[in-house]
Amino acid sequence: MKVNDLTLDSFEEYFSEISDMIFNYRNNLYHDPVIPSIEYSNLKTLLMEDIPYNEMEIKNILLDIKDKIIPNSTKVGHPLFLAWMNNSGCDAGTLGDILTTGLNQVPFMYKAGPALTVIEDLVVNWFCKLIGFNDNSGGALVSGGTTANLTSLLAAREIKGGSVMRKGLQDSGKLVLYMSEQGHTSIERAVGVLGIGADNIRKVSVDNNFKININDLEQNISNDIKKGFSPFCVVAQGGSASVGSVDPLDKISDICKKYNLWMHVDAAYGGAAILSDSKKDLFKGIDQADSVTIDPHKWFFIPPEAGLVLIKSRENLYNTFTKTSCRAYKGNYEEKNYLDYGVQTARTSRALKIWFAFKIYGLNKIKACIENNIVLADELKKLILKTQSWEILNPVDLSIICIRYLPENFTENDKINECQKLILVELEKSGKAFLSPVMIGDLTGIRICFANHRTTLEDVDILFSLLTSIAKKVEDYL
Ligand SMILES: *Cc1c(COP(=O)(O)O)cnc(C)c1O
Repeated sequence: MKVNDLTLDSFEEYFSEISDMIFNYRNNLYHDPVIPSIEYSNLKTLLMEDIPYNEMEIKNILLDIKDKIIPNSTKVGHPLFLAWMNNSGCDAGTLGDILTTGLNQVPFMYKAGPALTVIEDLVVNWFCKLIGFNDNSGGALVSGGTTANLTSLLAAREIKGGSVMRKGLQDSGKLVLYMSEQGHTSIERAVGVLGIGADNIRKVSVDNNFKININDLEQNISNDIKKGFSPFCVVAQGGSASVGSVDPLDKISDICKKYNLWMHVDAAYGGAAILSDSKKDLFKGIDQADSVTIDPHKWFFIPPEAGLVLIKSRENLYNTFTKTSCRAYKGNYEEKNYLDYGVQTARTSRALKIWFAFKIYGLNKIKACIENNIVLADELKKLILKTQSWEILNPVDLSIICIRYLPENFTENDKINECQKLILVELEKSGKAFLSPVMIGDLTGIRICFANHRTTLEDVDILFSLLTSIAKKVEDYL
């Protein structure tokens, strides 16, 4: 070993020990409990240590990983981990991620990761094609849907709000943005970060199917113009996070054209359904958007982090971020540098794992998994429609179904809401499944999001019997 060089005496040996751990963890995914039951404060005590100034035995560190870290990790890929939209990951994605780390490329500048810059171009281009964008389009991989939304809205503000990146907001008027009540909180955060302020989002009402009321949208826009506001953007839902509703994208696009507004589609979760034969029509008009968010780390089963901004006119993204790019990095090179397409400077490659997984499985296989999730949501819906003791709170546009247990013994809403929460607590304690709550108006429901390639029809039956027996038990003691 050279002086000052950080090498492991036996990199290969430890690499293989770590790969064994990953392999065992992966094989153990199907087993209980889905969520480790340890409390935050106890886990903190278990893992608390002083700064390690002096070297430690690697054997002991590896033992700690085996004994303390792995058992206290959530089995996010368990077939009945159906909370949020966090994904089941896929083996090829894991291998692609390991490879990415091992190659240590930094594709913010072409020179710091030439091949992975071009692989990112390729992956972005594949997604542009999937949604029907033409050759002028582009985009970039980012950490997730939140950053993808922020990046898209930064471009929207720059193009429609007038060179804000350099001049600031002083001359931009009172910018307002529209989305439905179903819009994701990350849009509020983005609008806050943009200096426009989340209070300047107009939350447009939705119809019975949780889709934006187009007339209301237009009414809001024309009222705002009359009052001297400056509308600049509409965010459409391409699969809302709580119920999976898809807004009428073609109608929103007509309105955006009429009023010269930027159209952004937040399809972080739902975008994957464009691949499905049964749901793709819901996305008619997505190719008219100025920008689209899709999360490969949700329903494309790619391990985190992997979010994606797609822009109809690639120049709009470039022109936004080059206003504040540091020329010193760039010298006289003419190549594609991803620091010109987003907020980050140094960045990892999120493209290689996607490229790897798409090629290994073929997109048809991934499409089959997505379609299977849609079928599972439908099967659960059928099971529930057969009973009196549960109701369904949403039309199941995609693969999210929100349900609510209806106790026999009481009818007050607060108590029924409480009942749903307790069912979720008991379900988690059982270790057999993990779901999340949802609020729809003043109704608390249980939300099941099928975005997991490991879930089978049998799992759906298991889940439903489990929910039913837990619900009866909770009803009895409540
Ligand atoms: C999940 C989601 C987000 C946030 O994406 P992250 O990847 O968690 O940052 C934004 N919008 C919608 C509609 C989502 O489903």
